[in-house]
Amino acid sequence: MNAEKPRSKKISAAKTMKKIMADHFLGIDAASKDPKRKVAWCTSVGPAELLQGFGFEVYYPENHSAILGATRKATEYIPYANAVGYSPDICSYLTADVGAYMQGFTPLTAAYGIEAVPRPDVLVYNTNQCRDVQDWFMWYGREWNVPCVGVQTHRNVGEVTREHLDSITGQLKNLAKDLEPIAGHPLDMDRFREAVGLSRKCSELWEKVLRTGAARPSALTFFDGTIHMGPAVVLRGTQIAVDYYEQLLDELDGRVADKVAAVEGERFRLYWEGMPIWGKLRPLSEQFLELNTCVVASTYCNSWIFNQLDPDQPFESMARAYTELFIVRSDPVKEDYIAEMCSDFSVDGIVYHDARTCGANTNSRYGMPQRLSKRLGSPHLTIDGDLNDLRCYSEEQARTNIEAFVEQLAQG
Ligand code: SF4
Repeated sequence: MNAEKPRSKKISAAKTMKKIMADHFLGIDAASKDPKRKVAWCTSVGPAELLQGFGFEVYYPENHSAILGATRKATEYIPYANAVGYSPDICSYLTADVGAYMQGFTPLTAAYGIEAVPRPDVLVYNTNQCRDVQDWFMWYGREWNVPCVGVQTHRNVGEVTREHLDSITGQLKNLAKDLEPIAGHPLDMDRFREAVGLSRKCSELWEKVLRTGAARPSALTFFDGTIHMGPAVVLRGTQIAVDYYEQLLDELDGRVADKVAAVEGERFRLYWEGMPIWGKLRPLSEQFLELNTCVVASTYCNSWIFNQLDPDQPFESMARAYTELFIVRSDPVKEDYIAEMCSDFSVDGIVYHDARTCGANTNSRYGMPQRLSKRLGSPHLTIDGDLNDLRCYSEEQARTNIEAFVEQLAQG
């Protein structure tokens, strides 16, 4: 007789989320077919608010590629991009997305009946994440002969200085000039400020949602976070996202008040550092449930907290929000951040995901796990894998390593 597998606890707000995500995709699809409306593609930590200020409908290819990963389609399409010169070692969001496009496939068809990704009027990137996003967008720029513009961010930033902020503010203002002829009108400053203000509200609520993971027992898991971050990525800058996170927070606050555990019988609390393994979220989440271990916090889900945004200083505050990001910072700053998170969330150990094709979001290659373990006096585990390319991931090996790691925690 098979013992029934533990299931993650349902979050009722998920129904609302499914609906608003569907509306988002259907809305952009309609906009891309309407000659009077304009579509901009934007990187997930890119200047979305500026694009909203121009009235563009904003589409996020990283989100699309994560859906390719989560539906376990990514691995199948990566080789098509490899065949036209995009290495298997570069971002598998890029290669899966381009490969799927080349083959005329999108998971939006099965999900929402949408035939193809929306054709953009402009592609706008911010290299604060990595150079891959720029190369990715330029591929589409050539494919469709549409402009591809962006912001080049500083990397390995220790202290954020006035020079950093002035340079990014200047680039954002120049970007606004470049966007004018594409939008066909100047930037609407009121609309821009409104988007920045709504983004800020969305960020604050999203942060509060994630903070319910600090409760004992934790009210949500990293795996819940990877699903519920959708609106913070693609709908920030809108009232829809604000309303959604108010609803979700209300539900999770209720869990905290009633001491409802996201993971029954929570014994251990872990921190996840690195990208999700999109095609394996469910088995990983189930394994941690079986081990009564909750992944209570992560760098990844926190990446969409932009509390620096200020509608009174839209350009300057965007420059700060998109420069103080974890991903662009130096190792000492990252280590301080993770140490503080581990303390705030009462973490027993850290799991690092070494994502083969994403060096930018992998922090286990230059001694950080060892340094932090020494500093925090807690163990770490590194899992080899990838965000989208499942050929880089051995489920059996990861399973065994996670089991052994939790056993090690149990032995103190
Ligand atoms: S940060 Fe990593 S996953 Fe994201 S676009 Fe860059 S390489 Fe790809």
